Amino acid sequence: MVDVIAIDGPAGAGKGTIAKFLSQKLKFPYIDTGLFYRALAFKALGAHVPYDNEVMLIDLAESVGLDDLENDLLRDESVASVASQTSVHPRIREILTNKMRSEALRIAEKSGGVILDGRDVSTVIFPNATTKLFIIADENTREQRRLQEMQKKGLMVKDGALSERDKRDQSRKTSPLKKAADAHTIDTTYLSIEEACAKALSFI
Ligand code: C5P
Repeated sequence: MVDVIAIDGPAGAGKGTIAKFLSQKLKFPYIDTGLFYRALAFKALGAHVPYDNEVMLIDLAESVGLDDLENDLLRDESVASVASQTSVHPRIREILTNKMRSEALRIAEKSGGVILDGRDVSTVIFPNATTKLFIIADENTREQRRLQEMQKKGLMVKDGALSERDKRDQSRKTSPLKKAADAHTIDTTYLSIEEACAKALSFI
């Protein structure tokens, strides 16, 4: 038996911060599942593949490897925006989900556990996860946090980019962002990073 900690929620709610904290605390590796979708988006941008062409995207999705995730350019919000358009396709989600699941199980076998964050970790990737957390924050707070994060890195964020992406992630037919029935919700709007992390730890 391995422990799987699944963390879902909209962009900028604090999933990554909490996941990294738990990873340090519990000594379980952390997998950012959004990077797989960003890596595919980056390839689609480079190859000029139309985002609505699932058939052409399939080959690119098959070619996403762990090496593709190590790329600072994936952090750009423009890549995230494309990721939310290419991630709507069922076949693409299936290919990338299989990659994430096998990678997670491979590293969890070694460490006894793994932490993943994304949009459908607790509903689709690992519906039987040991602990499920659903992290939320009000839209203004999330926009502000993302803006500060991007400014620190010298990157740009278009006004409204985050809410556009969230809407798409919540309304797509396949694996939309939603809270699993047995997930614990943490609203980080009025919490410090320390408080949010302590709350997350209290559920484990
Ligand atoms: O988490 P991150 O912001 O890096 O995710 C980028 C995009 O990838 C999301 O907006 C979403 O469209 C997609 N994604 C997804 N399922 C996941 C993780 C990310 O659809 N498990």
